[in-house]
Amino acid sequence: LKTNADLMARRRAAIPRGVGQSHEVFIARAENAEIWDVEGKRYIDFAGGIAVLNTGHGRPEIKEAVKAQIDLFTHTCFQVLAYESYVELAERFNTLAPGDFAKKTLFLTTGAEAVENAIKIARSHTKRSAVIAFTSGYHGRTLLTLGLTGKVAPYKTGFGPFPGEIFHAQFPNETHGVSVDDSIASIESILKNDVEASRVAAIIVEPVQGEGGFNVAPTDFLQRVRALCDQHGILMIVDEIQTGAGRTGTWFAIEHSGVAPDMITMAKSMAGGYPISGVVGRAEVMDAPAAGGLGGTYAGSPLACAAALAVLDVFEKDNLLERSRSMGAHMVTRLEAMATKDKRIAAVRGLGAMVAFELCKDGDVHQPSAELAKALAAEATKRGLILLTCGTYGNVVRILVPLTASDAIVNEGLDIIEACLAATA
Ligand code: PMP
Repeated sequence: LKTNADLMARRRAAIPRGVGQSHEVFIARAENAEIWDVEGKRYIDFAGGIAVLNTGHGRPEIKEAVKAQIDLFTHTCFQVLAYESYVELAERFNTLAPGDFAKKTLFLTTGAEAVENAIKIARSHTKRSAVIAFTSGYHGRTLLTLGLTGKVAPYKTGFGPFPGEIFHAQFPNETHGVSVDDSIASIESILKNDVEASRVAAIIVEPVQGEGGFNVAPTDFLQRVRALCDQHGILMIVDEIQTGAGRTGTWFAIEHSGVAPDMITMAKSMAGGYPISGVVGRAEVMDAPAAGGLGGTYAGSPLACAAALAVLDVFEKDNLLERSRSMGAHMVTRLEAMATKDKRIAAVRGLGAMVAFELCKDGDVHQPSAELAKALAAEATKRGLILLTCGTYGNVVRILVPLTASDAIVNEGLDIIEACLAATA
């Protein structure tokens, strides 16, 4: 029998340390919201492969769709030989995305690639170069997306210089004293001190910051960013790579605000574990780059398109948007009850089933405790629950459990969190 320890030793010897590992666990198999490791130990999965498994592990309809596609063909490169599933998937997203205007969709492979392409399209359409992103934002690990990312350690350390013409405005954060007014003022200040508005191609924002700590963008903030973009002819790009595919209770998180962005980036749960990403946006914006300007060898792979279409069907069949809202409300209620008994939980927040809690020393939000978050996640692994941390200070524990998980599994996971809080008190 192979042990986690043996495999970890081989991993350390064969793979660069830069590829981090949250848990020293090697998986053997998984089903819906449960995982079994190589030693036969069972875990509840509250990580979902970082927001990829909203429809759970091994959902039969998704598996069957991919298997059927494997039997037909697995790769052509869409730019060489097209296939209907890519077109159908684009049509579905053109209808799903908010905004009463014609839309078009482009598919790629990874989230970072979707963000790269959204910026390329914005530059091509506006003939402007600058981009405004936000503090604590996360947009990927390629050099352009790292430039947009608003957190140095560990992502940006040692990898610069990053592409120019990227500016960071303050993301609103009530817990840490940044109001919506402060945030909008910081955008105005960039336009005054750093770059004229007529050179800004786009503002890119996450409706709920994922890696940054599950910070929910207030509705009036998103509306004011939209108004500012309209005023200056700047495109609004919403990065829904972590928030999309129903995680927050609507297909796109931006729907909660009533704002229609010019482009939306998506990836992760859109295909339930098969690598595909996309950009959906205003048709005339999306059409700006000339033929041949966009694409990629694996972009919009037929296997992933088949999976993504099946994911959309599973959402309808299981009514997963409603499930996301009810599951989220339940998790927040239980975590808030834990917070009243444990002052180390300084905040519980979320949107739909995108839920997190912030851990601090002595209940003081100005003393974030990454150590406690780390200890809690390690204790949870021991007790059979996979948890992920996030946040600018690494002190936020986030929950990304499959929306298909049963109430019993969700409660079992929450019980483990409660026990871990007691064990680390
Ligand atoms: N944007 C956001 C909001 C993300 O959460 C992520 C991944 N955590 C990315 C972009 C990058 O996606 P990928 O890792 O697939 O490149």
